Amino acid sequence: MTVRVAIAGSTGSIGTQTIGVIRAENAREPGSYAVAALSAGGANIETILAQIEEFRPEVVSIAREDARREVAALTTGVLVTSDSEDIVESADVVVNSVVGFAGLEVTVETLQAGKRLALANKESLIAAGPVVQPLLSIPGAEIVPIDSEHCALHQCLRSSFEPEREVRRLLLTASGGPFRGKVADELAGVTVESALAHPTWAMGPKITVDSSTLMNKGLEVIEAHELYGTPYDQIEVVVHPQSVVHSMVEFSDGSTIAQLSMPTMHLPIGYALGYPDRTRVPFGAIDWTTLSRLDFEPPDRETFRCLDLAYQAGRAGGTAPAWLSAANEVAVAAFLSGKVRWNAIADVCVDVLERHDGATPVCVADVIEADQVARRIAEEIVEQQ
Ligand code: MG
Repeated sequence: MTVRVAIAGSTGSIGTQTIGVIRAENAREPGSYAVAALSAGGANIETILAQIEEFRPEVVSIAREDARREVAALTTGVLVTSDSEDIVESADVVVNSVVGFAGLEVTVETLQAGKRLALANKESLIAAGPVVQPLLSIPGAEIVPIDSEHCALHQCLRSSFEPEREVRRLLLTASGGPFRGKVADELAGVTVESALAHPTWAMGPKITVDSSTLMNKGLEVIEAHELYGTPYDQIEVVVHPQSVVHSMVEFSDGSTIAQLSMPTMHLPIGYALGYPDRTRVPFGAIDWTTLSRLDFEPPDRETFRCLDLAYQAGRAGGTAPAWLSAANEVAVAAFLSGKVRWNAIADVCVDVLERHDGATPVCVADVIEADQVARRIAEEIVEQQ
């Protein structure tokens, strides 16, 4: 049986790697996967045209109007549309690899359609947790995370028949990013270039900066809470610089189950596409003759303040995670464009969270409103930096 995949954000880092996984799996077992639909912002027309040529999807959704017109003029037999909802229809699995809050639409549309959401866009789940949760009771709707830590947790949790009773702790591993071991004073003047030089993972710029501040790990704590319902007191972060142990679950009898593989996103992508079956290609296989050590240490919560900010927002609940995620997006964009220092990313998030109004979202519109309010406040704070 061919699994029909829609890829939202097909020209980005996870989008192109998803194409790579599909190609490799189809080479091993022809016809395993079909690319039924694609969506992209429209900044990279050449890549989208090449993807259309290779996979002949039924539907392609492009956000930018000029790019949409150009793609429509250059292709035949493909429905070129502006509506991201059109890509959900034709697929069994929807990969959401849109960057940032903009991914909310695809998350909601996929679950509403009762489909599997292979979720690389953690921001939508973090910002809209209270709105997304009820959608998971729709028959067929499920989330399989494309995030190495949460994919690891998903695999570890399969070893328990009663996770609610038997899970003691989720242990999320963190590489520590490029600034591990540094203290706040040393980090005052770091460059964009050094923040983007991740030691173990090659990723897009937003998530790479988030890894350097540990905001990524903080957001992943909220993501784990939303995915698995585990209380915040039972979610911990362990720094593990080799990025080979992707996360662990400790059970009531004291057993810890960990998932290990080489750092490659191909494995979590293939896992989410094929679940409950495993891919035929051994994407993350470890060479035990070269892997000599695995180190673990506690995170430096004083230097990397974003980690505890995420716990704080997660525990506050309601729209607090949406505010934090929005503030962080604004602050990271300002850092990447040279407007603020690296240290200011946490400062902006602290100031925005202090002004949180304590609201709880009941619909998507509430989440969008919360996002906009938080962004406005964050932008004002950025201007004052
Ligand atoms: Mg991750």
